[in-house]
Amino acid sequence: MKLNRRLFIGSGAAAAATLAAPAVLADNHGRPRVVVIGGGAGGATAARYIAKDSKGAIDVTLVEPTRTYYTCFFSNLYIGGFKEISDLGHSYGALAANYGINVVHDWAVDVDRDAKTVTLAGGGVLPYDKLILSPGIDFVDGSVEGWSLASQNKMPHAYKAGSQTELLRAQVLAMPEGGTFAMVAPPNPYRCPPGPYERISMVASVLKANNPTAKIIVADPKPKFSKMGLFQEGWNNHYAGMVDWIGEEFGGGNVSVNPEAMTVTIDGEETKVDACNVIPAQKAGRIAEIAGVTDGNWAPVNAADMSTKADADVYVLGDASQQGDMPKSGFSANSQAKVCANAVRGALTGSKVFPAKFSNTCWSLIEANDGVKVGATYEATDEKIAKVDGFISQTGETAEVRQATYEESEGWYAGITSDMFS
Ligand SMILES: Cc1cc2nc3c(=O)[nH]c(=O)nc-3n(C[C@H](O)[C@H](O)[C@H](O)COP(=O)(O)OP(=O)(O)OC[C@H]3O[C@@H](n4cnc5c(N)ncnc54)[C@H](O)[C@@H]3O)c2cc1C
Repeated sequence: MKLNRRLFIGSGAAAAATLAAPAVLADNHGRPRVVVIGGGAGGATAARYIAKDSKGAIDVTLVEPTRTYYTCFFSNLYIGGFKEISDLGHSYGALAANYGINVVHDWAVDVDRDAKTVTLAGGGVLPYDKLILSPGIDFVDGSVEGWSLASQNKMPHAYKAGSQTELLRAQVLAMPEGGTFAMVAPPNPYRCPPGPYERISMVASVLKANNPTAKIIVADPKPKFSKMGLFQEGWNNHYAGMVDWIGEEFGGGNVSVNPEAMTVTIDGEETKVDACNVIPAQKAGRIAEIAGVTDGNWAPVNAADMSTKADADVYVLGDASQQGDMPKSGFSANSQAKVCANAVRGALTGSKVFPAKFSNTCWSLIEANDGVKVGATYEATDEKIAKVDGFISQTGETAEVRQATYEESEGWYAGITSDMFS
C-alpha cells in the first residue's frame, strides 16, 4: 500500500493514543482484549464506545450472527405502515471501518470463564480480558399453553425484529373483513413495557384504514400496564369499540392457544381468530445462562459498571440484565453500555472513570402524529440502578404537544442508531 500523507497522519495519531493509554490489564499478551457478544442496542454501543474512546489501545471483537440488525424500536411503526422495513435495518460496516472493531458474524455457543474464552458456532475460540454480554431476550418455554417456538410462523411473537415483524404485518393485512386479531401479552418483566400496547395501537390504525369492522382482543396476565391511561384514552379517541383488553381480573392470564386451529381460549372461552400475536414470558438470551452468570431468568449486575455478580470480568447489558429500576428498552441498553464502556476502558487502560448515570425515555405512537412518552433518570446505588426522577405525558394534551412528542421520537431514533452504528 502506498503510504499517503493522510494515512500517515491518521496512523501516527492512533499510535500516539496507544502509547498515551497504557494497557494495565493485558496479562502480558499485548493489547487488552474485549469480546462483546450481541450487536444490538447494548452490545453495538459498548463495542463502539470502547474502540472509539480507547483509540486503538483495546482490541475489540463484536460477535453477532446477523449482518443486518433490525431494531425492535420503531418496528411497531412498520406494522402500522408508518415506516418501511428497510428503515429499521442497520449494518456493522462502519464499526469495522471507523474504529477497527473486529466484527465476527457468528453465534457464541460457549463461554469458559476460567480460561477466559468464547467459543463460536463456527469453531473459533476468542480469548478475552473482559467479556460483555448483550444477547437480548429468549422466551420461557411453556409460558403460553399450546405455543412453542415451532408455532412462531403461525402465531408470530414479532418480539425480535425482522422477518417475524414482516409476517405479523402481512397477517394483519390478510385478515378477512370483520375478522379478529388477538394478542397474548407477556407477564412482567419483559422487553419494552409499552411495546405490546403501542403494537395494539398500530394494528388498530391499519385495521381502521383497511378493515374497520375488525376486532382486537388482548389477553393480558397483568392488572395494569405502562402508560395505561394514555393508551386507553388513545384507543377511545381513535379506535372506539375496536379494542377489547382483558386484564388479570377478567381471566386474561388464564389463556391457551391452538395454532393449528387458530383459536385462543381465555378463561375457558374459545374464540376463532384470524391473526394472533403471542408474546411469551421472557428471560435473558441463552448465552448468559451458558456463561453461568444468570440467577433465575436474568443476570444480576452491579449498578456502578454493569459487571455481573458472578464474575467481575463479565458484564451484562440491556434486556438480559437484572439491574433494578430501568425498563428493558433500547434507550436503557444504550445508556448502560456507555457506563460499562467507560468502566471497562478505565479497568484496562487506567483512563478516568466517571460516576455512573443513566437515563431512559420510551416513546409510543398511538395514531398518526399522536405520540406519548414516559422517562426517568437513574443513579447507581450499592443495591441497584435506582430511579431518581421521572416524567410522563398527560391525558388530554393538545394535538400540537402530541405531534411534537412524535417528532421528538423520530429525532431519538436517528440519534440512537447513529450512536450504535456510525
Ligand atoms: C415491539 C418492540 C418495540 C420496542 N420499542 C422500543 C422503543 O421505542 N424504545 C426503546 O428504547 N426500546 C424499544 N424496544 C426494546 C428494545 O428493542 C430492546 O430493549 C433492546 O433492543 C435491548 O437491547 P439488547 O442489546 O439487550 O438486545 P438486542 O438489541 O436484542 O441485541 C441482542 C443481539 O444479540 C445477538 N445475540 C443473541 N445471542 C447471541 C449469541 N449467542 N451470539 C452472538 N450474538 C447473539 C442477537 O442477534 C441480537 O442482535 C422495543 C422492543 C420491541 C419488541
